[in-house]
Amino acid sequence: MRFEPGDRVLLIDSKDRRYLVTLRQGGSFHFHRGIVEHDQVIGAEDGLVVRTAGGEQVVALRPTYEDFVLKMPRGAQVVYPKDAATILIYGDIYPGASVLEAGVGSGALSIALLRAVGPEGRVTSYEIREDFADQALENIQSFMGKPENFEICRASVYDPFDEKGPFDRVVLDLAEPWRAIPQVLEVLRPGGIFVSYLPTVLQIHQLVEELKATDAFRQIVTVECLNRTWHVEDRSVRPDHRMVGHTGFITRARLVDRTPRSSSD
Ligand code: SAH
Repeated sequence: MRFEPGDRVLLIDSKDRRYLVTLRQGGSFHFHRGIVEHDQVIGAEDGLVVRTAGGEQVVALRPTYEDFVLKMPRGAQVVYPKDAATILIYGDIYPGASVLEAGVGSGALSIALLRAVGPEGRVTSYEIREDFADQALENIQSFMGKPENFEICRASVYDPFDEKGPFDRVVLDLAEPWRAIPQVLEVLRPGGIFVSYLPTVLQIHQLVEELKATDAFRQIVTVECLNRTWHVEDRSVRPDHRMVGHTGFITRARLVDRTPRSSSD
């Protein structure tokens, strides 16, 4: 797929600095090491190396999910890519699944969910803030076009809602997810999975206690995902000095049907 006007391109200079640029015919990108003319990139394939007039080499790549969400405009704090990855697998988000999400925030997690459910699935996201909903829609559309299977409901998941369901998965990234449990019990199908992303231990404690109190959930697991990058150069092969120390904890639980089938004997 060749670059076209309107596409986003990630430009990486020789010092590994990254710039996210939207291509325009006749446009130019100025940075402190030179100028990249957009027309040098338009029409070329992904992975192109551009040489500026000053001899600087700049790599032009289609932004990945990670490139995009770390650079896109944010209203709310986004779920970090390492956590989005963990949520997709622990939450078993599969092609064709219907997912209820809240809140949409900047749309980072929505993009990951939409990619995982694919065109056969659907994502319905609740968000109370109009400005965040608008920003999220803009981000999602600019990364993947307008998804037909995505809807934002401007309402609180803490209030009783008129949602049809059933959903295969519920994914919550908000401060008091336990307040959504009555609604989750209404719309999540038996065998469905509930996932919550929370920044503090007190929140996890309350959530897990309240999930257990319903006696409707099994396989309740909380994990945190620590990604330590490594410095690999010559004979110096060791962890990097700095890492992202804390983002959030992921709690996953599986809903069961509480009407037991008795055996006939
Ligand atoms: N996962 C998002 C970030 C979500 S931030 C991302 O990756 O980009 C939390 C969001 O939840 C905020 O946008 C906030 O407005 C929204 N929110 C808070 N309480 C809510 C509620 N009761 N119902 C729906 N959305 C809510």
